[in-house]
Amino acid sequence: MTARHRREPESTATQIRNRLKTKLVPGGERIFQRIYTRLGCEGRPPYFVVEFHPYTGLTLTVRVREDTAYVRLSDALHDAPTPVVEAAAAILLGRLYRRQPPKDLLEIYRRFSYARTTRLRLHRLRQHRARRVEHRPAGTHHDLGPLFVDLNQRYFENLLPLPRLSWSKRGWRSLLGCFDPALQQIVLNRELDRKTVPEYVVAYVLYHEMLHLKHPMKFARCRRESHSPSFRKEEKKFRDYQRAMKFLDRFPAC
Ligand SMILES: [Zn+2]
Repeated sequence: MTARHRREPESTATQIRNRLKTKLVPGGERIFQRIYTRLGCEGRPPYFVVEFHPYTGLTLTVRVREDTAYVRLSDALHDAPTPVVEAAAAILLGRLYRRQPPKDLLEIYRRFSYARTTRLRLHRLRQHRARRVEHRPAGTHHDLGPLFVDLNQRYFENLLPLPRLSWSKRGWRSLLGCFDPALQQIVLNRELDRKTVPEYVVAYVLYHEMLHLKHPMKFARCRRESHSPSFRKEEKKFRDYQRAMKFLDRFPAC
């Protein structure tokens, strides 16, 4: 699941459990000090506590408490070469101190995150860690089950395997739907499950996610996806494409 959602405050038990799951990044503190200097940050650098954390993606976070910066790097970076960790440091410190990370480091990080080995590793991590939804295609007003069958027949020669289909628990602000290739699930924004939303609009959003199901390896996650020109072309084959676009232009997402 990749929709943005507010984090609940962590209970002490959760904090302790997470603490046990994290591991210090070897040489992490030195790397962060070095990049702090390289970015031209002024003043005394904070102390850095740099740990790996079992995220479901390539998440990087930093929190500053008094004179210490607590850094968490996705443990997908576990065997990454030092320049990749340096690049992660540059991205985080750049964010924190509003500095532009050096281009060479950004390029290293970009290459690392798009590398096939990284993508495969993230895919496996997600399979183990990400939250699976229950197959519950029937919403209050729209049922994704029959829609899937219909679209599969009409556009995909019945070749797509049935993923788990569901509606999001809460309304999403900026996402209409999401296909997670690691979990084989399609979740639609529950804001679309309304009487005022025509069925062809729901069908369009489902069709879009089904295209991701058809081309799973190209798209690792829905939030970071990009749609290739050929994807866009295929998307326009949807019968009510123009109508759906028009409706969604006016659609108040939450
Ligand atoms: Zn998409």
